[in-house]
Amino acid sequence: MKIKHIDHIGIAVKSIEQAGKFYTDILGLKIEEIENVADQKVNVAFLPITDSELELLESTEPDGPVAKYIDARGEGVQHIAFRVENIEEALEELKAKGVRMIDKEQRGGAGGAKIAFIHPKETNGVLVEICERD
Ligand code: ZN
Repeated sequence: MKIKHIDHIGIAVKSIEQAGKFYTDILGLKIEEIENVADQKVNVAFLPITDSELELLESTEPDGPVAKYIDARGEGVQHIAFRVENIEEALEELKAKGVRMIDKEQRGGAGGAKIAFIHPKETNGVLVEICERD
């Protein structure tokens, strides 16, 4: 597969409003937009930095995946996303190599991306997302 660059780093936070202040007021980044991703029970704030971005992930429900992550491990870096040229090809290749996936098929992510997560057991504990977007 062709990995183009780091698309984004997902950071689990309890509150986008509170956590976002460091990135905006101190680092001078801008929250470009906040999107609700209903099936993941999160609000996602996008802070672009050249070709990459930070994504602040705030759970909208106490039983959402980000809420569970924070319960187990606290706030912090939750996943790293690599942008690939073609996600179907990447998924085929991962399957052929016997890589355990959280998502066997691509699904819709924030910002209109096609995404899939690799199981963290394959990556020494790093939750890796692959994504394709225009
Ligand atoms: Zn992501």
